[in-house]
Amino acid sequence: MKILVPVKRVVDYNVKVRIKPDGSGVDIANVKMSMNPFDEIAVEEAIRLREKGIATEVVAVSCGIAACQETLRNALALGADRAILVETDAELQPLAVAKLLKALVDKEAPRLVILGKQAIDDDANQTGQMLAGLLGWAQATSASKVEIAAADAAEMTVKREIDGGLETMQVKLPAIITTDLRLNEPRYATLPNIMKAKKKPLDTVKPDALGVDVTPRLATLKVAEPAKRRGGGKVADVQELVAKLRNEAKVI
Ligand code: AMP
Repeated sequence: MKILVPVKRVVDYNVKVRIKPDGSGVDIANVKMSMNPFDEIAVEEAIRLREKGIATEVVAVSCGIAACQETLRNALALGADRAILVETDAELQPLAVAKLLKALVDKEAPRLVILGKQAIDDDANQTGQMLAGLLGWAQATSASKVEIAAADAAEMTVKREIDGGLETMQVKLPAIITTDLRLNEPRYATLPNIMKAKKKPLDTVKPDALGVDVTPRLATLKVAEPAKRRGGGKVADVQELVAKLRNEAKVI
């Protein structure tokens, strides 16, 4: 089966982001960008399924500016077979990305789409669910284990970590999976694979060619820093703690 893996270019998780002075968003000028960490896990899972003989082809997709090519080359270096860039300078919200991915699914006919459970920039946690809705496919979100018995399997088993423990679901294919942190530990791209990735096919398509209107439906009114935490302090004993809670914090 073919697997489609959407990968988003986001601010690297090590970067401490700054809010633009006018409060219109986060300043991403001259900031290190990387593949969304949950998407690295998605790529890894797809490659492992190919290595097991379950998947025949892994296609990485990114929607956004031309620089998303770097993210796709990274996916190719990790082992994806080919890549598609849906290129646009427009702001893309999850519904628009889901519609673009739906158009690509219609064209590419994968039986599995593995997305991250959320992008660490906007923390939307929406795209996979919306894509499942648009396609009318089953979805297994926040997956921590995926088992597919054979390449032509009609169903798969997915484990999800939920508050009360582990939930095991049987899911009809074709389906959507979104990845949780514990699903796997992604490999590093080796130098030879980074070199090989340069020669792998990377196609570019525009949203118009897919017949998708990406106009944003939501407007961000304001982005602000979280309130600064007040400094903590140490107390000598329980009596002092209780006195502080009563007289200073006035919470008891
Ligand atoms: P979100 O719903 O924005 O939190 O994103 C969830 C997942 O959808 C990400 O982990 C990616 O797999 C996918 N995704 C979101 N935005 C994009 C994008 N612009 N290009 C490719 N994949 C995306």
